[in-house]
Amino acid sequence: MNVLVIGGGGREHALCWKLAGSPQLETLYCAPGNAGIAKVAECVDLMLTDHQAVLAFCKEKEIGLVVIGPEAPLVEGLTDDLEAEDIAVFGPAAKPAQLEGSKAFTKQICDEANIPTAKYATFDNASDARTHLMTHDMPVVIKADGLAAGKGVTIAHNAGEALRALQSCFDGTYGGPGAKVVIEEFLDGEEASFFALVDGETILPLATAQDHKRAYDGDEGPNTGGMGAYSPAPIMTDEVCQKVVAEIIQPTVSWLADAGMAYKGVLYAGLMVKDGSPKLIEYNVRFGDPECQALMVALKSDLLPALLATAQGDLSGVTLDWHTGASLCVVMASKGYPGAYEKGSEIKGLEEAAAPEGVEIFHAGTAQDGDKVIATGGRVLGVTARGDTIAEAQKRAYEAVDKIDWPEGFCRRDIGWRAV
Ligand code: AMP
Repeated sequence: MNVLVIGGGGREHALCWKLAGSPQLETLYCAPGNAGIAKVAECVDLMLTDHQAVLAFCKEKEIGLVVIGPEAPLVEGLTDDLEAEDIAVFGPAAKPAQLEGSKAFTKQICDEANIPTAKYATFDNASDARTHLMTHDMPVVIKADGLAAGKGVTIAHNAGEALRALQSCFDGTYGGPGAKVVIEEFLDGEEASFFALVDGETILPLATAQDHKRAYDGDEGPNTGGMGAYSPAPIMTDEVCQKVVAEIIQPTVSWLADAGMAYKGVLYAGLMVKDGSPKLIEYNVRFGDPECQALMVALKSDLLPALLATAQGDLSGVTLDWHTGASLCVVMASKGYPGAYEKGSEIKGLEEAAAPEGVEIFHAGTAQDGDKVIATGGRVLGVTARGDTIAEAQKRAYEAVDKIDWPEGFCRRDIGWRAV
C-alpha cells in the first residue's frame, strides 16, 4: 500500500520511521517532510490548504491511506474532503476535530456526558467576562476558544493578570479564535497524557506520557511546543487508566457517535490527576509532539494495519505489542527558542549518536544541504531512547545527545526528572 503522511515535524518523522518498517508498505510519501523524513519517505511539496491538490496527488499515486499529523488540516476538514472521494484517512473529520478546535465544544460535551473537568463558564463578550472574574477564586485559567498554537491559555494569579489575558483574547491576539473565551477553575495535581486509537466506537488504549512544556531546566522559563517527554507516566496506574477510559474517553466517544460525528483517529486526553482521580484539561485530536516520538520507539507492532483499521472504522481485530520498560525523548532546539533564533547552522554526529539499538533521532526543523544537515527551525531534533526504566531511557537519550556536535543548539538536561 502507498501511504501519504501530512506534516513535517518530529511527530511526523516518528510516524514515518515506524510506517517505513511495515511489510505492508509499498511507497511512503510525506508532505512537506524534512531532512530526516527524506531518509525513509519521498518528500513532496503540496499546498496543504489546497485540498483538491492533495486529493489529486492521492489519486495519481494511488494512496491507500493518508495519515494527518498536525491539528490544523483536521480542523480545516482535509479528512472530510478526502473521505468524500473514498480515500482512507487516519485523523478525525472537521466536526469531531472541534474537540481540539473549540474548547467551548469540549466543555459542552463534558457537561452533557458528565465528564470530570474544571468548572467553567464561556463568554462571547468582554464585559460579562470581566464581571464573572470579579468574584472568581485565584488562580484562574483564561482560554481563547479556538486553535491558538498552544498560546491561548493563561494561568492568572491575580485579577490584573486575568484582565490582561482576557483583553488579549478579545483583542484578537490569538487570531480569530479569541472571539469566545472560556474562564475556568485552576486544577491542582499532576499532569499526564493518555492516548487511544478510536474507530468511531471501539477504543484501543495506546500508552500514557508526560511532557515538559517549559524551555529550561527545573520547568522554568517560557512555554514551548514541548522540550521532551517520556512514556509511560508513572502516575497513570492501571486503575487511573481504567477511570480515564470509563469516565472520560468512553462518554466522549459515545456522545460524538450519538451526535452523528463519530470520532476516528488518535484521541489524546490532557489530564490532571489528583489522589487517583483524573480530570480532563483538554483534548487534542492528533498525537502529541514530542510524546509521539517516545510512543513510536516503544511500539513493537506494525503501525500501518492499526492506523488503517482505525481509518476504516474497525479496530476489533487489532492488538498492539509494546516493548517493556520505558522511552524518553529529549528535544534539541536552536539557541534562543522559543524566542528569536538563528537558522542555517550545521549539525554533525547524528549517525554515531543514533547507532545504539533502541536510539532514534527524529528531525523536526532540519533541511538537507548537500551532505550537510542544517537547522532550520526552533525545535530541531528529538533524541529518543528506550530503556528498562525511565532512568535508563534518560541515560541513553543523553548519551546520544552528547554525541551530537551542534554548538548552536541546546536542550534541557532534566527531561524525566519527576519520574526518575
Ligand atoms: P492547553 O493549551 O489547554 O493544553 O493548556 C496549556 C496548559 O495549561 C496545560 O497543559 C496545563 O498545564 C495548563 N492548564 C490548562 N487548564 C488548566 C486548569 N484548568 N488548571 C490548571 N492548569 C491548566
